[in-house]
Formats: sequence, structure tokens, C-alpha cells
Amino acid sequence: MRAFKYSRATEPKSASKLVSANEKAQFLAGGTNVLDLMKEDVERPTELVDISKIQLTDVTESGNLISIGGLGKNTATANHPLIRNNFPMLTQAILAGASAQIRNMATNGGNLNQRTRCSYFFETAMPCNKREPGSGCGALEGVNRMHAIFGWSESCIAVHPSDMCIPLVALDAVVKIQGVNGEMKNIPFSDYHRLPGNDPQKDNNLVHGELITSIDIPKNNFANNSCYLKIRDRSSYAFALISVAAALELDGKSIKDVRLAMGGVSHKPWRALAAEKFLKGKTANMANFKIAAEEEMKSAKAFEHNQFKIEMGKKAIVRALSQALDGGTA
Ligand code: SF4
Repeated sequence: MRAFKYSRATEPKSASKLVSANEKAQFLAGGTNVLDLMKEDVERPTELVDISKIQLTDVTESGNLISIGGLGKNTATANHPLIRNNFPMLTQAILAGASAQIRNMATNGGNLNQRTRCSYFFETAMPCNKREPGSGCGALEGVNRMHAIFGWSESCIAVHPSDMCIPLVALDAVVKIQGVNGEMKNIPFSDYHRLPGNDPQKDNNLVHGELITSIDIPKNNFANNSCYLKIRDRSSYAFALISVAAALELDGKSIKDVRLAMGGVSHKPWRALAAEKFLKGKTANMANFKIAAEEEMKSAKAFEHNQFKIEMGKKAIVRALSQALDGGTA
């Protein structure tokens, strides 16, 4: 690992100021992503600003919002009664991610800001536009089994690795941010992460030095009929091949409202808007779930090794919706 300057901030404004003053500075919170990347010599910050002691850790309720602190730990957030009772699919998603040890260290803001990447990103002998803009994409003609089927570009076909972010995009969360000039900003979750386009090195729409202070989730009526389904190669410590967050609000047998989002399929958490549009107002049954899945997967485009994701995606959508209808056990 290369030498770097270390400093500690005690509140969001000074943390933001310190990082924004040095274009090669980064925040250090749980360290579960940035330290790995530094050890692999993929990320080379000259300065780390430790924000782990800033008190942005609580889960709070105010009016119609539940707010989770940007520096709260993933495990504590998943197990908080306000999250378990109001957004059980968020609890399920967080607990499906990484390992228990990593979830105990990783922060909520860090989960959103972990790098969108594939294994070639770590392989410094291979081209990677995300690691070194303009060098090419090793995955396009390489092993691309884990890669995107929606929203990719010739520049990058990696997928965002988070589980937590999939229910957050489905639930219309809002990311609250400490701006670099002392101002506060809000970004709707669906606008937070980016598709790769011609700038795959940019994973999200933060300005350098901006800090996530909280993630706010509006209350809803989905708690009784929601679930997070994750399909992966082994049962722990593996990224999703496909994941689905599914939530239904029912009026008898009719779907009054529905939220559906997918992981493992795109550079950003993928909101399944085509499926949602079809399902609204329809009867909640297998036949309609199957049509919705076909609608969503129509626009998927796969590569040599990940063709299976298209059929798997359809089946995962149907299964997640069925589990949500049955009360949401995942
Ligand atoms: Fe790099 Fe993205 Fe290509 Fe992977 S898919 S090699 S992260 S540019």
C-alpha cells in the first residue's frame, strides 16, 4: 500500500471541506471497500479523511419519513425495529450482503458509494475503462458471466454490487448530502447512481467532497407484502447473479401500487418500471406476474456468458412477486 496522509473530521462540514480541497483525498468510514482497493493498488488516494467518529449513525422517525444515518453500520440498520417493521425487504437485503464481519464494519453511505466494478477492475494487467479511462474494457470480450444486461455501454458492462440499494430505489428513498460549500442537497435515489455511458469512471452523481448524511425513506403500505430475493452462486459472501426487491399494496386481489427493482443487472440499481406499469391495477396472480416479467426483460441485452440472466431474471421477478403476495418470506 502507498503512503497517504491521515486526518480525522468530527462533523460533516469540515469533513466535506477537507476532501474537496484535495482531488486525491477520499473519505474513510468503515473502510471495507476503499482499503481493499488501496491494497490492490487500484485506488491511490494521497489523503484519507476519517469520518467514522461523526455522529450520523441513528435511525429516526419524523412525520412520514424514516431516516437512516449515512454513517450507521449496515448490521445495526438492518436490525433496527423501525427498519424491520416498516421496510422488511430492506432488512432482508442488507442481511443478504457480504459477510457478517463486513456488515458490522460497513456504513450505509459506504454501501451506496462502493465502486461499481467487475473482477477486471482489480486486475491491473487488464484494460479497464473504469480504473484507467480510455484503456478499454476487458470484460466485453472476456469472461462476462456476472455482467450487465440493462443500460450498459461499450465503455463498461459492470453491475452495481449492492443488495441494500435495490429496495432503496424501489422505495423512492432520497439521499441527503452535505455539499462542499456548506449547503445541503437532496438527490432522489433513482438519480443517485449513473449508467456508464462514456464516463464509466463515475459511479454516481456526487461532486468530489460531498458527504452522505442520511438516506430518507417515505413510509408506505408495502410492509405486509414485500420481499428481497437474491440468487447467487453460493449462499453467503457472494454477489447477486440476479436479485429482486418486490413490494405490493393490495386492495383485495387488485394491485393498488407496486414497486419492483433488480440487482445484478445494471451499472446502477435497476428500477423495473415496465413491469410496474403493467401490474398497476391488475389482479395479483401468477399469470399477470409472468406477463410483467416478460415486459421488463424485453429490453435486456446479454453477452456471451450471461445469456442465462434473461431467463433467470424473468423467473426471479415472478418468484419475488409471488413471495411478496404470500407475505414476503425470503
Ligand atoms: Fe472495467 Fe467496467 Fe469493463 Fe469491468 S466492465 S473491465 S469494470 S470497464
